[in-house]
Amino acid sequence: MGARTGQEYVERLAQSRPTVDVNGERLAGPVPEHPALANIVRSYAELYDLQHDPRLRDELTYESPTSGERVGTSFLVPRTPDDLVKRRAGFRAWADHSLGTLGRTGDYLNSALMALSQAGPWFAQADPQFARNIAAYYEMVREEDLLTTHTLIPPQANRAAGAGQQVDGRALGAHVVREDDNGIVVRGARMLATIGPIADELLVFPSTLLKGTPEDAPYSFAFAINCDAPGLRFICRENLDYGRHHPLGGRFDEVDAVVVFDDVHVPWERVFMLGRPELCNSFYADTSAVVHMTHQVTARTTAKAEAFLGLMSLMTEAIAVEQFSHIQEDLAQVITIVGTLHGLVRAAEADAAPNEYGVFTPAWEPLNTARNWFPKVSQRLPEITRKFGASGLMAIPTEADVAGSAKEDVERYLQSAALSGPERVRLFRLAWDLSVSTFAGRQNLYEYYFFGDPVRMAGALLKATDREPYKERVRSFLERVSETDPVAA
Ligand SMILES: Cc1cc2nc3c(=O)[nH]c(=O)nc-3n(C[C@H](O)[C@H](O)[C@H](O)COP(=O)(O)OP(=O)(O)OC[C@H]3O[C@@H](n4cnc5c(N)ncnc54)[C@H](O)[C@@H]3O)c2cc1C
Repeated sequence: MGARTGQEYVERLAQSRPTVDVNGERLAGPVPEHPALANIVRSYAELYDLQHDPRLRDELTYESPTSGERVGTSFLVPRTPDDLVKRRAGFRAWADHSLGTLGRTGDYLNSALMALSQAGPWFAQADPQFARNIAAYYEMVREEDLLTTHTLIPPQANRAAGAGQQVDGRALGAHVVREDDNGIVVRGARMLATIGPIADELLVFPSTLLKGTPEDAPYSFAFAINCDAPGLRFICRENLDYGRHHPLGGRFDEVDAVVVFDDVHVPWERVFMLGRPELCNSFYADTSAVVHMTHQVTARTTAKAEAFLGLMSLMTEAIAVEQFSHIQEDLAQVITIVGTLHGLVRAAEADAAPNEYGVFTPAWEPLNTARNWFPKVSQRLPEITRKFGASGLMAIPTEADVAGSAKEDVERYLQSAALSGPERVRLFRLAWDLSVSTFAGRQNLYEYYFFGDPVRMAGALLKATDREPYKERVRSFLERVSETDPVAA
């Protein structure tokens, strides 16, 4: 099949019958027709259509090495510096479509599957069959252009207790309850799967650090299942799509859903890792999956930061506030955020090298810096937008008012130094949806926790960073100073 069109994505989704609870009801009909899901499905379909747009075809697709069909660029196994540039151009083409607000476009996990599929020897440490399974799975997802999502975190019941002791000494998190000739059976829950109800496939991968004790064994796995697998249920959060007059929420509300596994049977060919906590803990790092995922994420966050810069610049121009020094200071901060992201991505690509499996892989230090830094600095972007917009973020009648009975008032009283009334309302409604609305609130939470808890990530960064050379430089400086200048010492 190769790279899908939007219609092909929607048609497959309409045939699928996932078990989804949404707004107090169990979904009965086709997913693309449900009002809470229709707009986000439409937006994802637009992304698939972009793969066939003659202007973007070369960025978004390449020729499959097996079928010869054009397939998504995010599946491309990079071997050269140009391949990394092509991958990034593809990430950007999709990210720009939503101003970077869609976080789970298929290219994110396609990048993970690409890296995992090449790390056969690593999977073979547990079982050579796992290496064959992940390679075959990657090829299937690539050739059928399937949309995958993932679920990693156990339910947030008791973070002070181990996985098997959550409430009343019982397990809540998804765990393996038995194995049979055909596969494994999984029971329990995982906290979230963004876009679960509109995806084709769910990757149930390791995340939380496992201690390697015998109690951890049932929680040590990586597998994939169809989103409509029997026994799998998605419970959606409240829908944030309040209609198309919300420029972002009405298009890009990527539904988040709790995932319940009610004795879900996973066939052996979909199992990639089982019962090896130490390998689960290094699943992303030892395979370079985390690097390629972060390459995609940083391309997306760059698109988002650039969108904020463009939006803020239009706002300050619209109401003529750019001459004020604190406005300039804030804008300058956003320019440095954009510049830092550009620099980090370029550095990662410039210092790229083949990993031990021959996959040309960006340098980790710049990307790891980006993923530790952006979650925090990202919170400044809506904050600055709110400062700039002030009451303008509330004086935003809907499109119906702008064209309806309030038309003349809007034209007269909501015009600005640089824009007509309707133009200004449209611009400020976008600013509101990126900084004030419930959609914006969810975006902030998403950016902050996207890669995990920033607090624990900081701890991990500290542990992984060899600071000895820096300490040594200071020690030798102190020694030098004390020899030549005993008083200063
Ligand atoms: C919008 C959104 C979408 C998401 N989508 C997905 C998805 O598609 N798939 C997926 O798998 N996950 C998803 N997540 C989950 C995300 O990965 C987690 O939010 C993140 O890893 C943090 O874990 P937690 O939410 O369980 O927080 P918790 O671990 O429950 O932390 C809660 C608070 O307690 C503190 N805390 C808890 N334990 C410790 C500790 N040991 N040491 C120090 N502090 C601690 C934390 O710092 C934090 O302040 C999503 C999250 C959000 C917000």
